[in-house]
Amino acid sequence: MKAAFLTEFRKDLVIKDTDVPKVEKGDILLKIKYCGICRSDWHLWRGDPALVAYMEWSGGKLPIIQGHEVYGEVVEVGDNVTRLKVGDKVVIPASSTGDNRTCRYCMDGNSNVCEHLVIPGYGINGCFAEYMLVPERSVVDLVKIPEGVKPEWAALLSCGFGTSWNAFTMKANLKPGDMVLVIGTGGVGLSAIAIANAIGAKVISIDLNPTATEKAKKLGSIEAYYYSNPEELKKIVDDIMKTHGLVDVVYDTTGNPDAVTSALPLIRPQGTLLLAGLMMKGKETFPLPADLVVAREIKIQGVLMLPAQKFEGIFNLLKEGKMNLDPAIYKFISLEEANNAYREMSEYKTAGRIMIKF
Ligand SMILES: [Zn+2]
Ligand SMILES: [Zn+2]
Repeated sequence: MKAAFLTEFRKDLVIKDTDVPKVEKGDILLKIKYCGICRSDWHLWRGDPALVAYMEWSGGKLPIIQGHEVYGEVVEVGDNVTRLKVGDKVVIPASSTGDNRTCRYCMDGNSNVCEHLVIPGYGINGCFAEYMLVPERSVVDLVKIPEGVKPEWAALLSCGFGTSWNAFTMKANLKPGDMVLVIGTGGVGLSAIAIANAIGAKVISIDLNPTATEKAKKLGSIEAYYYSNPEELKKIVDDIMKTHGLVDVVYDTTGNPDAVTSALPLIRPQGTLLLAGLMMKGKETFPLPADLVVAREIKIQGVLMLPAQKFEGIFNLLKEGKMNLDPAIYKFISLEEANNAYREMSEYKTAGRIMIKF
């Protein structure tokens, strides 16, 4: 099979033929149909510390096949597998159980923070390849995709879209009429706009890329600001404050400390700051105005993807046609073009998800 290996940080992926993984008892082999290229793949490719640390903690090492936004078809099942069969179309949440749902978090329905977390492309080989092996300890987290859900949308569910769903429906409890500021309108942020609109909330968004702000408007962002430096960001925050007042939720998808710090004073009393963006090397923290957080009882909440146990609600919304995720996808490419994708992402030129189509 053809696969793209990360062999050295910040160097081109090596795309070459390699053996199809062998299926042992309890495992499942997927033929990959779509694989999104997530900003966190790019962070690992750059060697950013949080991702490298996670890779090492979860037992992964270079060379590794990256990619965790998986949509595939079951092509082989190991002995003892009964819950899925050859031909089933599935995704696996980017953060999945690594212990067959036996730890306290998995048993509470939160396998996205499993004590033995598995993320394809970090601890095990991922989906920048024609085939991917799902090990027995994670098979229980494979989610069967019902008829009527577009496969490329399903791929987004495993990470970008799933994260925003978790953020708004499970962490911030977003309600109709609430006002949200979304920082960053890449794959995660654009998905967030679609979800917020489906809930009936109002969205304002900001991004570094003017094309992304156009897409944000198409998806229903009532205002989509573009900024290129911290000064412009300050002006935008002032403008939002004057026009709309304080917001219920700020959702950061970028890990940009300047943006998070600037936007924090926009959060209303008892509002929520949701953090889903990963910080870059050398910029791993942001200053926290603790007095403001105390005075307003602001909740600060991290968000990590979506557990397999919580997918059902999304399928209903997607099948009812209440959301269109096409604008969240920037373009489809072949596996051979993966290195170009990283180059474009390094220049922040992409507006939405780049997706490998096999
Ligand atoms: Zn991701
Ligand atoms: Zn677990």
